[in-house]
Amino acid sequence: MGTAIETAVNFGSMADHTAIAVLANGRDCLDRTLKAVKRVMSTRRDEFKRLVVFVSANFALCHESLPGLPDNYCLTSKRASRWPNHIRSNRMLLWDVDTQVDFLLPGGRLYVPGAEAIIPNLACLTQFARKMRLPLISSADAHQPDDPELKTYPPHCLAGTAGQEKIPETLLPNRFVIPNRPADLPPAKDFQQIIIEKQQFDVFTNPNTDTLLQQFGSKLQILMYGVVTEICVCAAARNLLRRGHKVTLISDAVRALDEAKASEFIDELLRAGGQLINTNDAVRRTSSTIRSES
Ligand SMILES: [Zn+2]
Repeated sequence: MGTAIETAVNFGSMADHTAIAVLANGRDCLDRTLKAVKRVMSTRRDEFKRLVVFVSANFALCHESLPGLPDNYCLTSKRASRWPNHIRSNRMLLWDVDTQVDFLLPGGRLYVPGAEAIIPNLACLTQFARKMRLPLISSADAHQPDDPELKTYPPHCLAGTAGQEKIPETLLPNRFVIPNRPADLPPAKDFQQIIIEKQQFDVFTNPNTDTLLQQFGSKLQILMYGVVTEICVCAAARNLLRRGHKVTLISDAVRALDEAKASEFIDELLRAGGQLINTNDAVRRTSSTIRSES
């Protein structure tokens, strides 16, 4: 007990919110623990102290699924979140398109009628990615007032506004945001979620998108969802298909503004070798594929 007190980190000095405390201070927590233990260990070797370090390090670095994380809390530390073998062999990932306040919630600047109905499925898919440790790539509009697109559509998702934020149901704690300008990318595997900002329909207009995608390898199996089906979802899917990836659209986690055009796009997707399934089937089939490969 004396050793534990001697080597313990000061949890009282951490943020009030448990999830933030663990996530934001995890690294600091570990560093201070190691320093404290080093001092003790220099005078007397003791296996129990090693155990304390091990437990503290695991507590600090592995508690990533605590509930109640505040909306849009962004952590950009490089806490390891390595993908297991099945991710590397199956090359699966989830791709979430523009699930932002201005599109999804009534009162949003470019609200898609009925879009809030897909939120439970968005939440399910986000948590599925977290649980299975599948990479989650998200696109997000981050407009400036003079963007050409805003001559056609009402101003929406303006950078820095509440409407531009992704809804909390689509966020994972350990994420990295890629701005729409040339940037040095960190290793994608260090993050659970990568958010790619864009100022046009097509996420590949961000100069970093292709470079990021190359980190995941070729012939990816992509589960895609979000809004709106016939515009930004369509643009992302077409570009991914052209690059040789397989796109499966989650039928009950997308929403359209123009149903006829959305239906044309889905026909095109199926002709190009894509698939259409619902959230339950996507989760069930992907889980069983992963289990059979493990
Ligand atoms: Zn836009």
